[in-house]
Amino acid sequence: MQEKLLTDTEINYKEIKEKITEAAKSAGRDPEDIRLMAVTKTVAPEKINIAINSGCDLLGENRVQEFLEKYESYDKNAEVHFIGSLQTNKVKYIVDKVSMIESVDSIKLAEEIEKRCEKIDKIMDILLEVNIANEENKGGFSPEEVVGISEKINDFPHLRLRGLMTIGRFGAEIEETRQYFKKMRHLLVDIKSKNRDNIYINILSMGMSGDYELAVSEGATIVRVGQGLFGARKYV
Ligand SMILES: *Cc1c(COP(=O)(O)O)cnc(C)c1O
Repeated sequence: MQEKLLTDTEINYKEIKEKITEAAKSAGRDPEDIRLMAVTKTVAPEKINIAINSGCDLLGENRVQEFLEKYESYDKNAEVHFIGSLQTNKVKYIVDKVSMIESVDSIKLAEEIEKRCEKIDKIMDILLEVNIANEENKGGFSPEEVVGISEKINDFPHLRLRGLMTIGRFGAEIEETRQYFKKMRHLLVDIKSKNRDNIYINILSMGMSGDYELAVSEGATIVRVGQGLFGARKYV
């Protein structure tokens, strides 16, 4: 027998993929419709490369500076989405390196992405971030305003709205979280029905290490997993 020591990240990756498949099947969904994103904040590139080599083809980056320092060390070209809060003055550093910005949380940010993408002749896929629990001190559009905002995005020729993203309320009970995820799915349907250029609107990014299976049951198409894949984060 061939001996091979699997690292924790490889084992976790396989396990999470299996759980996603199970959750999808239980919900009558095609497991192929769900992407597992590896959330890389604080994780060393060597470890990120283990995830990439295990088959992970999507990375989620939160911090511009950290991303710029690390991205050239990644093994092959996994797709990168930006998922963190993004200051307008940093947009120019990432527009050529990411395929999607999931954390669009203001019109001002949308304007800046439009301007920078026009310069490099690129159409950027974006998600609108929704503050689904209407939490104070949290980024994102309120559920009440997000449909109107989605219509405004039509005016930006270099932005292509793909759907919605949310970060559930930290510490919420499972049933509460389920209601937020359901509400997100309904918002996606609303946005799709109210926008004329809607053929691309089909992405729901929700669910993290603690609740990605629930998110899959409720319609997520991207789940964003950090600690479940790489182990507990050590902030320095
Ligand atoms: C950190 C982070 C995640 C992943 O959280 P884990 O609990 O480590 O799975 C997902 N989404 C966003 C926006 C994050 O900042």
